Amino acid sequence: MISPAPLQTLLRDSRLAPHLRAVAQKVAQGERITEAEGLLLYEEAPLGFLGTLANHVREQKHGDNTYFNRNFHIEPTNVCLYTCTFCSYSRRIKKREDGWEYTIEDMLDIVRKYDGQPVTEVHIVGGVLPQYDVPFYTELFQRIHAHRPDLHIKALTPVEYHYIFKKAKISYEEGMRLMQEAGLQSMPGGGAEIFAPEIRDQIAGGKCSGEEWLRIHEIWHELGGRSNATMLYGHIEEYHHRVDHLEKLRALQDKTGGFQTYIPLKFRNENNELSHLPEVSVIEDLRNYAIGRIYLDNFDHVKAYWPMIGRTTAQLSLAFGVNDIDGTIDDTTRIYSMAGGEKHPAMSTEDLVKMIRSVGRRPIERDTLYGVIKDYTDAEFADDKAYRGYTSLPVV
Ligand code: SF4
Repeated sequence: MISPAPLQTLLRDSRLAPHLRAVAQKVAQGERITEAEGLLLYEEAPLGFLGTLANHVREQKHGDNTYFNRNFHIEPTNVCLYTCTFCSYSRRIKKREDGWEYTIEDMLDIVRKYDGQPVTEVHIVGGVLPQYDVPFYTELFQRIHAHRPDLHIKALTPVEYHYIFKKAKISYEEGMRLMQEAGLQSMPGGGAEIFAPEIRDQIAGGKCSGEEWLRIHEIWHELGGRSNATMLYGHIEEYHHRVDHLEKLRALQDKTGGFQTYIPLKFRNENNELSHLPEVSVIEDLRNYAIGRIYLDNFDHVKAYWPMIGRTTAQLSLAFGVNDIDGTIDDTTRIYSMAGGEKHPAMSTEDLVKMIRSVGRRPIERDTLYGVIKDYTDAEFADDKAYRGYTSLPVV
C-alpha cells in the first residue's frame, strides 16, 4: 500500500513552506479551511502534501474502512433535449433512432432480472425527454417498490426534476413530495457539473442552473431525504471555479446536513464536443480528490467512481481522501464507457473486496445510507499479506 506519511511527520519537516504549514496546522487541529486556502491548495500544494492532509481527515473519520455496495443502474433513455458539450452519452432528439427509450415495462424487466440476488440499490438516471414526466416516474417508482420493497430507489437528478416539475407546473416542493410518496428514497449527485454560471452556461446545454440544482437538494433534505453531490472537473473550468463549487456544497451542507457523499467526476474526452481538450493527469485526479476531502469537512464520505477513473486510480485514491468506491454496477451503465471510462463496468463483490484489500484498506459492504451489511474486517483480514505491506511515502 502506498500511503502518505502521517501529518505530524509533515509538520516536523522544516522544508515545508510557511503558508502550507499554516493550512496543515489547521487540518491537524480539525479546523475548517477558507476559500483562499482552498485555492492555495489547488495552485501550489504538491501531491504528497495533499495526500497527507486528506489521508489524515479520512482516517480520523473512517480509519481504513472503505465502503462499497451491490447495485445496478437503469438508464431510461440516452436521448436528451439538452446539449451538454461534455456529454458522450446522449443522442439528440433528431437522431433518437440511434438511442434507446425504455418503457416502464422494459425497466421492470431489468429489475426482475435481479430477483433473488443480493443487490440493495437501483440507481436510475438518464436523458431528458417529454414522455418521461411526473406521472411516468411516480408510476415507475411505485411499481419498482411494489415488486421489491427492499430495493433502495436512488433516482434522478435536479436536471430531470427541474424539467418535469416545470412541465407539470408544480413547485419543487410539491414535486419532491410526490416523488417521495411514490417511493424515491435518495438522490444521486449528478448534474452538478460546475455551478459557476460563466462555465456552466458554456457546457451544460441549457439545463437547470447551479442555484436550481442546490435548491432541489435543499428541499429534498428538508423532506428528510439524503443525497450525494458531484463536481465535473478537468474541462474548461479554472481552480477558482472548483473552489466556488466546493464552497457552495459546504454551505448547503452546513444548512441541511443532507449530503452523504461527495463524488468528483473526471471529464473524459471521447465522443463529445470537447474532445479537443486533453484529459487531466492522474496526479491532478488525486490532487482533486484530496482537496475535496480537506475542504468538505462536513461531508462524511468521498467516493471514487471506478467506472469513470478506472480501477487503478480508484485504488490509489484510497490514499488521497477517498473512502468509498461505489458498487458492483454489473455492466448496467453506459454513461462513462461512452466517454472513455471502463468499457464494461462490472465487478463481483469478491473483486471489489480484493481491490480494496490489496491496497491495505478494509472492505465494508454498505447499503445506500451507509448501514453496514457485511464487515470484511474479520479474523482472516488480520493475516492479509497485502494489509501488512502498508507503507508510507515521503511527503515533500
Ligand atoms: S449530461 Fe445529461 S442533461 Fe446533459 S446532454 Fe447528457 S444526458 Fe442530457
